[in-house]
Amino acid sequence: MNLETMTGMVLSAMPIGEYDKRVVILTKEAGKISAFARGARRPNSALLAACQPFAFGEFQLYRGRDSYTASAADISNYFSGLRENLEGAYYGFYFCEFADYLTGENIEGAEILKLLYQSLRALSKGTIDFLLVRYIFELRMIALNGQAPQVFGCACCGEKEGLEWFDCKRGGLLCRECIEGMQGKKRASAGLIYTMQFILATPLEKLYTFAVNRQVLEELGELMKEYQEYYIGHKFKSLEILEMFQGAR
Ligand SMILES: [Zn+2]
Repeated sequence: MNLETMTGMVLSAMPIGEYDKRVVILTKEAGKISAFARGARRPNSALLAACQPFAFGEFQLYRGRDSYTASAADISNYFSGLRENLEGAYYGFYFCEFADYLTGENIEGAEILKLLYQSLRALSKGTIDFLLVRYIFELRMIALNGQAPQVFGCACCGEKEGLEWFDCKRGGLLCRECIEGMQGKKRASAGLIYTMQFILATPLEKLYTFAVNRQVLEELGELMKEYQEYYIGHKFKSLEILEMFQGAR
């Protein structure tokens, strides 16, 4: 068995037997991997804190035939701020489940890992509306999955002017001429268009540096809901929990 060092973040952890855990780690080097962590639930285990969701750092792993075994970890960020903010933590679990759903093994994980890291950082800081953080994360994640909407030109003809409508099925903005007689199109405000352009074109480190007004946030929310249903079409358990939590307040 080879010992490998990988940079990654724990997406989920599941108890196994009495003292062990199985963790899913999104790594820069090998995409999403599953690792067995022997004794990780023993109070004196060096892996105890490292095998919790959101733990980010370097993991020492033995590669077996079809799984890994965690041997040690050097964690640089636990995002412990989220432990004190339940709503933020629920958003974090949702982001992890979303990343888990869209990624597989042996993919290039660096960009997704960076997006997840920056998004959890934005939740921890708490200076940007959590809903905006969520929509930014979803849109960038969908873009990394190769399904970004066309927001810099008409999705049908490429025209750059007169873009005032959006249609999920056609994959983005539409110009005045292309919407003639079209069903299902929706108006997109200039604020919404600018916001989507910013989200899709800005480097990941600078993604969480802006705010939008209530109206744009609502428009973006409606659009993301429809876009996600069309392109991802998956019910996330952690999102249901988050929405129950928000409904109960
Ligand atoms: Zn057009």
